[in-house]
Amino acid sequence: MQDFGSRGHTLISYLAQTIAESPTLKLNEEAQLLRERGEPVIHLGIGEPKNKAPINAILSSAAKLNTGDIKYSPTDGIPSLKKAIISYTEENYDKVIEPENVIVSSGAKQAIYNILYALLNPQDEVIIPAPYWVSYPEIVKMVYGVPVIVTPEDGGLHPRMADILRAVSSSTKAIIVNSPNNPSGLVFSEDLIREIVEFCEKKQIYLIMDDIYHKLVFDGKKAASCYKFTDRDIEESRLIVVNGISKLYGMTGFRIGWTVAPRKLVKVMTNVQAQTTSCASVILQAAAEGALTGLQSVVENLRMTIENNRNIMMQELESFNGVKLTRPDGTFYCFPDFRAYTQDSVELSEFLLKKALVVAVPGREFGMDGYLRLSYAGSVNDITEGIARIKWALDPDSPNEIYIGDRKMVRDWL
Ligand code: PMP
Repeated sequence: MQDFGSRGHTLISYLAQTIAESPTLKLNEEAQLLRERGEPVIHLGIGEPKNKAPINAILSSAAKLNTGDIKYSPTDGIPSLKKAIISYTEENYDKVIEPENVIVSSGAKQAIYNILYALLNPQDEVIIPAPYWVSYPEIVKMVYGVPVIVTPEDGGLHPRMADILRAVSSSTKAIIVNSPNNPSGLVFSEDLIREIVEFCEKKQIYLIMDDIYHKLVFDGKKAASCYKFTDRDIEESRLIVVNGISKLYGMTGFRIGWTVAPRKLVKVMTNVQAQTTSCASVILQAAAEGALTGLQSVVENLRMTIENNRNIMMQELESFNGVKLTRPDGTFYCFPDFRAYTQDSVELSEFLLKKALVVAVPGREFGMDGYLRLSYAGSVNDITEGIARIKWALDPDSPNEIYIGDRKMVRDWL
């Protein structure tokens, strides 16, 4: 331990503790072992769609690779990709921005890390509405900030302005909003987004909008663009929008994301990135450019597939006694409430893996115990069979016997 500085020291003990305790890591390891033994495990924890990368992305990166001219790019991204991002922002957000407002990173996750690294002083607070994406509080802590978790006091999954306001202090530096939301799948109301934007602009608090799922929205709904609720010039504004190709184009392995922000912040983020990764890989940036400038029907096709999967998942869950459902408006997750069965979501996930060979992510990871995050990014068969198995394991009204693979299983614990 003496080998590390104070930052390293804190992180080593903190990471050793969290990694050892991470229930999801443990579940995934156990699921992997079971799979290696030939057990028919169904994974409802998946955080990525199944589709192949869009052809335009593949051709564009292959063409770049074939030139053999694979060098560093400018730290903030290749100009042609930044141009594509500017067009994307104009088309999807009705917002005109300049190249100086954009920085390309190796995934939205790196973008969020760089933003928080650039913004926070030690002990600065960041408000994170629960349920939240697992990485937000971890990143805030890694840069010595303090995550302030806000849980809706009405017991629902949609954040409420009154709860957020109660959490604001003189140390509040930023609020992170993720709509459509991982894990709830909810698209936050226009009213809430307007209230948060107006509040942040007035109080000089940064609003980080993680829009990584913003086109994976169902039932004809739309995720509100934060820019709609401010007339401030982007340079005077506190709005930061994070986006990427991982979810919308099913390109998680390409690791490209980006940030749209006031140029002063982009400059600092560029300095941070220059001393860490230098730039995102040019081959992968070329792929992202191909995705953004190519056929956009790939996004719509993916959206329709996922909406259909959502419908099937809802249909299967609706007949589940005791489970409280909040219908997701987007993403590929739902976050049902299993508290009628147990408060302990980690124990529940372990039980489901052991008895039903199904992986479900415990809600405690997202700041809400008693819930499970179930993904519908996989196949229809995984969804129907996965839910049938969970129902068999928990719901006394479901049949006592089930086939898991070619084994007939009899329930003897209810
Ligand atoms: N934000 C949210 C809400 C996510 O769910 C994820 C991926 N799980 C990310 C950001 C990270 O995306 P990327 O693959 O671009 O790093």
